[in-house]
This record gives sequence, structure tokens and C-alpha cells, in this order.
Amino acid sequence: MDMETYPLLKLLSEQMNLETAEECRPSGYSKVKPSVTDRDISITPAHLPGGKSILLLKTLLTSACERDCFYCPFRAGRDFRRATFKPIEFADLFMNLVNRRIAEGIFLSSSVAGGGIHTQDKLLETADILRRKYGFRGYIHLKIMPGAEKAQVERAMQLVDRVSVNLEAPNTERLARLAPQKVFLEELLQPLRWIEDIRRNSPPSNKWNRRWPSTVTQFVAGGSDESDLELLETTRWLHKDVGLSRAYFSAFHPIPDTPFENKPAVNPLREQRLYQGSFLIRDYGFSLEELPFKEDGNLPLLIDPKFAWAQINLSEKPIEVNKASRQELIRIPGIGQKSADAILKARRFNKFRDLSTLKKIGISVERASPFILLDGRKSSFQLPLL
Ligand code: SF4
Repeated sequence: MDMETYPLLKLLSEQMNLETAEECRPSGYSKVKPSVTDRDISITPAHLPGGKSILLLKTLLTSACERDCFYCPFRAGRDFRRATFKPIEFADLFMNLVNRRIAEGIFLSSSVAGGGIHTQDKLLETADILRRKYGFRGYIHLKIMPGAEKAQVERAMQLVDRVSVNLEAPNTERLARLAPQKVFLEELLQPLRWIEDIRRNSPPSNKWNRRWPSTVTQFVAGGSDESDLELLETTRWLHKDVGLSRAYFSAFHPIPDTPFENKPAVNPLREQRLYQGSFLIRDYGFSLEELPFKEDGNLPLLIDPKFAWAQINLSEKPIEVNKASRQELIRIPGIGQKSADAILKARRFNKFRDLSTLKKIGISVERASPFILLDGRKSSFQLPLL
């Protein structure tokens, strides 16, 4: 291990606490602490697009930032020890971790130092060294900096598996409250449009896997007092119009010595509700208007949005499991995409007549039973006696 640069990585790993991308979430939602596999550097077990799980190093190329986002531990003027890698130093260190089987992939971000274009150049140089000098073919997720140029965005797309542009807030007005030096439309949304434009209009020109990378973004949930409705409205648009794969939500928590240090932390449950809402729209055919928002535009915290929707819409009109289409089945709480397919397959041979047969193929009957009919009859679920 390179003893000169390892302490820098350790320092940066301690500070890399805002990025939730690729985190493993048991049952789809709840947050787990990253597992640290090599003393004090942060290696996260991460699910990649496609389901493969790898050991992912998340870090920054530099924590020296010239901007002053109100929520951010790296903001200019905050008193803490900064660390900066040269691209070659970082690439050497990372390959050392790869060769020792400590890390298998990387999520590389950066603070803004010397402008967005200059910072993007450093990130690109690092990815280029990994791919071309060291022939690394594993997973790379690279951050697109605010203010990066279109040619830089395209170069990033040629080198990596995933690119991300963190919007942080759902619109111009909300971003101004959170990060007044960032420009929502020109600096953040524009790169997302370029990525989709390149993806749609040019064949992949990367030599190593012939696929354009996926795109993700992250929001600071509750950082600008925005509502869930605002966040999910923007997320829906991003999925539909700029080919976003996934939005990540990070519940705001105050960092000492920032302008928001006295702002109350946001309940982490809100993250779960936002993920659930975004998945209902992206994967389950729900429209934004169907989600059970309260008057303040937020989803209820204590009940998941699919269950809340079913209580309103299915309690009086339960769905017959033996006849329902796939689209109808996946709207029932306790039935996901895979279990809907299992129902369709099983009912080719036999009708479902009781909850136990549904349970056998993996349906959560506790959640589903209030909203379904089995061969015309409603079956109530009984908790097992102790
Ligand atoms: S530009 Fe990025 S690193 Fe710098 S203060 Fe803003 S969020 Fe933090």
C-alpha cells in the first residue's frame, strides 16, 4: 500500500457521508451503514444496475471546495483538514486496492476546485488512467461537475459505467435556498439533457463495453423545505424526459459550522417514502396524481404510499387474484413484480382459493389480504397464535 496517499484516502473516506448512490438497502429501502473492510477507508457493498453486488470505494478526488452550499461539510471557509489527490496518485492507490481485492469498483466525486471545467478534467484524467494505462474494466461511477462542458460529459460517458449530476433540490427556487452558487438550469439540468441527447443520437463509442452509462441524481430531502410532491414531480420528469435511471434521496441532517447547523434533521423515514413513491411511478404504473399526498404535499410518514393508496382505492373494490392483469396485481400491497409473475404462472394450472397457496409463492399475505378476492371470496389473514 502506498503509505503517502493512503492517509489521504482515509481522511476523505471519513468525510464522504452525503452520497447514497448504489448503497445496499435491505428490503429495498432501509439504510445500512457502509461496511469498512480495510481499516478506516469506506468500502460499501453496493448493488450495481443488473443486480450484481461489488465492493465499492466511494471517495473524492479533493475535498477543497470553492463554493459554499449551505448544507455541505466541504463548503469553502469551513475549518477542517482538506485532502487532494493528483489523478495518477489516486489511480495508483485504487489499483493497489483492486489488486489486493479490497475494492472492485469506484464512485469518484469531487469538490469544486479551480472551476467546474478544471475539476472535471481531473476526474476525467483519473478515469482515463484507470481505463487506458491500467486496463481496469471494473465499475466506475463518475460525478459530472456543475459547469462541466458538453465534450467533457461525452468523454465521461465513453469511460465509465454510470454518471451522476446531483440536482440537490427539485427546482431553481429551492436550489437557491440550499446552494446559491449553483445554477439549476444551466449547470445541473443542462448536463443531464446532454447525456440523454448523446445517448439517443450517437452509438456508444466506448471501446471497452459498447454501452452508454446509466444516469442518476441525488436530492437533499428536506434541505430546502421542499415537499415530496415537488421532489417526485421533478423525478418523474427526469425518468421520462432525460432517461434518468434512478433518483437517490438523502434526508437532510445538519453539519456543524455550516449556515444550516441549527436546522432540524429530517426524519430518515422520509427517504423511504420518497424511494417508495418514486418506484411506484417508475416501475408500478402509478401516476403522480394517484400517490396519497397530504395537503402539505408530503407523503404520510407512518404508512407506505402503496398501502395508503390501496386503503383508499381497493378496500371497497378488492381485486380478484385469479383474473387480474399483471398491472392490477402489482398495485396490490405485498405483491411485487416477481410475485405478480409467479401468480400469473401458477394460476395457469390451478385457481388460488386460499391465502396459504399465495403465501407459498412468496406473497406477503398480511399486506395483500385486505385488498384481494380469491375465487370470489375475501379471506382474512389471521396472525399465527404464539
Ligand atoms: S460544490 Fe459540492 S462539495 Fe462544494 S460546497 Fe457545494 S455540495 Fe459541497
